[in-house]
Order: sequence, then C-alpha cells, then structure tokens
Amino acid sequence: MKLEKKIRVAVLHFMHETVTFLGNDTTLDDFIYEGSPARGEELLASDTRGYVGGFVKVAREYPDVEVTGIESPLFPKTGTGSGWITHEAFEHFVGIMLRELRAQGPFDGVYLAVHGAMAVRGIARPEAELARRVRDVIGPAAFISATFDPHANEDEAFLESADMAFSVKYFPHYDCHLQGERAARMLIRAIRGDFKPVNFQRKVPIISATVQQWTGASPWMDMIQRALVWEAREPDLFVNVLFGFPWADVPDAGMTVQALTNGNPGLARKVVDDMSEWIWRRREDLLDTTKVLSIADGVKQAKKFAAEGRKPVVLADHSDRSGYATWILEQVLEQNLSRTLIATIADEQAIQTLQEAGVQVGQHFDMAVGGRVDPSSGEPVRVAGEIVHVGEKGTGRQRYLDSVNIAFGDGNLLILSRYLVQAKELEEIGKLEADPAGFDILAIKSRVHFRRGFDDSGFAKAILLVEPDEPFLGTVRLDGLRYENLDLKNFYPYGSPEWPPAT
Ligand SMILES: [Zn+2]
Repeated sequence: MKLEKKIRVAVLHFMHETVTFLGNDTTLDDFIYEGSPARGEELLASDTRGYVGGFVKVAREYPDVEVTGIESPLFPKTGTGSGWITHEAFEHFVGIMLRELRAQGPFDGVYLAVHGAMAVRGIARPEAELARRVRDVIGPAAFISATFDPHANEDEAFLESADMAFSVKYFPHYDCHLQGERAARMLIRAIRGDFKPVNFQRKVPIISATVQQWTGASPWMDMIQRALVWEAREPDLFVNVLFGFPWADVPDAGMTVQALTNGNPGLARKVVDDMSEWIWRRREDLLDTTKVLSIADGVKQAKKFAAEGRKPVVLADHSDRSGYATWILEQVLEQNLSRTLIATIADEQAIQTLQEAGVQVGQHFDMAVGGRVDPSSGEPVRVAGEIVHVGEKGTGRQRYLDSVNIAFGDGNLLILSRYLVQAKELEEIGKLEADPAGFDILAIKSRVHFRRGFDDSGFAKAILLVEPDEPFLGTVRLDGLRYENLDLKNFYPYGSPEWPPAT
C-alpha cells in the first residue's frame, strides 16, 4: 500500500486597521505582549471564533492535512487606536515569518490572515508585499489563500501574488469564521487540483466613512444580498466586496469588487461587471445612510429621549479614533445628564498615574481626564467622584492597571481605560464591571460594530450617532482630511471619476 503524502499548510497572521491620521505610530512594542507574537498551536488557537479559527477547523477535518502555525504578531495592543506601523515593526515580523516558512517548509499552501487596511511607513501595499515575499519563499507551485476584513483597501497587487481571497460580507463582521472556513476548503481543493483559482477584480471609485457602511440596512444590505445570490447561483464562485477604509491614507483606498471562480475568467468578469455597475448606480443612496449629529445636539436628544422613556439610548461617537475624546463627557456635564455611562475614555497617562498611586475602590477621585493626544480628542475634562472599581489585567509581575470606574453626578459612571475600548457587545461593558441595564444613556465609541450587541439584540430603544463640529480625523466629511497618498477628486462623492473605468 502506498502511503499518501501529507498536505502541508502554514498559517500566518498579520492584521491592523491603521488610522494613518493618528499621531502615534504603531510600533514593534505594540505587537509584543502576553500571548503575542504567537506560534504553533498558540497561534492556531488564538482566534477560535474568527478567521483563523474557521481556517483551522476546516483544515483539520482532512486527516491528510497538516497545519503549522508560523510565528506571527496578533492585533497590536493599541487596537485600532494607533497610526502608521513603523517600517521596523513590519520588517521584523515579516522577517521572522519568512525565516520560519523556510525552516519548516516546504509547504503546499499558505493561509494569510490579513486585514487589508494595514498601513506601513515606506511600504505602499503591505498585504500585497507580504504575499509577494511569501510567494518568493514557497515557490510558484504552492497556493496562497487569504481572508480580508470588509474594510480592506486593495487593488490588483495582492492577487498578483496570492491565489485567492475571501472577505467578510457583513458589517458588523459576523462571518469571519465562515470566510476562514472557505479559505481552508478552497486552499486544500486547489492543492489537490480540484479548484483552479481564476480572479477578476475592479476598483469602484467610491470612498465612504465606515459609519455609513452598516450592512443591516439597505442599500448596503441589498448589495450584500446581490453577492450572496451570485454565490448561490454558481458553484465555486466567491464574491468579495471590499468597502474600503478611508482613514488609511494609502494609494489603494476605496471600494473593490473581486470574483473568484474555478477556472472561469468569463464568469469572474461578468460578476464583477454586474456588482460594480450596481454599486455605481446606487452610489448616492449608499452614501446617504446615516444621520450624524453634533455632540451638543446628540446629548440634548439623548436627554430628551430618556425623559420620554425611550431608553436605553445609545450615544455613539463614531469619530473618536484614539479613544481619548472628551466631547461627550464635556456635554454630559454641561447639560447635566443623569444615569449616563461613559464607556470609555482612554487615557494611558492617567491610568499610569493612578497605578503608581496604588488606586483603590472607595477613594475620592478628582482629575482631568482624556483629550490631549491630538486636536480630535479635545481638552481634558475634570471629573470628581468616587472610585467604584479598579480593573487589572495580566498575571504575576506582568499585572497592570487597565481601567478605573468612577461614579459621579446623579447616577453617572465614567470608565477610564488605558487603551481605546470599542464596545461591540453588552458583555464587554459587563467585563468592565458596569451593568448596561443600570443606565438610561450609554455613551460609547463605535461606528457600526456596536450594532451587534446594542441594536441587533433589541437592547437600545434609540441610537444617536455623533461627531464633533470641526471635521477631525474620524469625520464623515473626508474632504476635511489632508490626504497625501490619494486624491479625493478621483472618488465619488468628492470628484467626478471616470465610469466605467477604461480597462
Ligand atoms: Zn473592519
């Protein structure tokens, strides 16, 4: 009996959603913390409900497939609250990945768990660059499969080196695990010669703020439905709609449609034509989905709704990219709100000061918090109250103060955190030792992610989206930003781009 040769696949992870307009670079250090970088089984188990989890689950359904976790950094500890990734950080981790790929190879396939909106100083298209270097190591016969976040900024460069990509269709990102599963199944089929990846793709010159991209309502919902119908109609067809991420000032920003087929260039082209023409026809509606109020108006509305019994009210500052913004807190004090939760204001320096002072529950608190990191975060705001919870993270000597809860005013609670917290689920508030049901108004920092736990769940009775008056870096008014690597005039709604593109 002939022994079947094992199929060997490697898993690499390198993700960030980079807000290049933030002043704080994402450094090597930001990727290094307890659990990161991860390798081997640790990497493979790092994200069981997400992309990597889906990939590993399906890959391990095949007894002849061996999965290897290559040393990779996890999401930086700053979350999405940091800017350009330093060249040093990128080269450091990619260097390790390639060395390990060589040392542990040869591999028949590689899975790249990437985001698509990573921005690195000195490297215009980091995901494509990673794919290119991986290709150099594994050779032309092996296959590269990838997953993307829906906010990926990509052009044709990535698929010039990689064979296939599967992007999340929903925002909030519900289908990460599913796309990871697909990336595994199709990678293995390609390796076995049962699937011949043929892609077509087109950029659609539309640029939009992520707060406008909620797929829980039309026309974004219809756009995704159209992609799903295509996938249902045609076996082995996969459709990606990359919405783009406008806060990364990179040359490949904006929307992209990709179709992946089993050796059928005509079908790939037809589907991309259909999807991209539909998107272009509906461009006005696609960008007219969300009402964004000023902070003062939003806080006033929230107070009114609460008084009328339309509560809990979720007040989401969609524009705060660092987590330090104090605009809502300032208005909550100014307009005398009660039973309001502020979750959270990030202030690493304040948390550090409190840690050094050995802060304890029951102590009086009187400090100016937040603001300062850049103009978009506003001025520090003074809060006086009582410390009701002290949240720590890490173990043993690595233990550090992560958050402090301060009760103030009439039933209000401020959660001060070390880093940006984007509350997506009610449990995340619970983990910070605050009971979401105990407040009339919940002020959070999120664009669309929060809909998962606060809207789709039926929890919020009213939702108000706000941003500060001046167009700061998280604004929906993108022409208020100073782009250097792209020209807004080449995108709807800021110019009159050529359509259909000359190809
Ligand atoms: Zn995203």
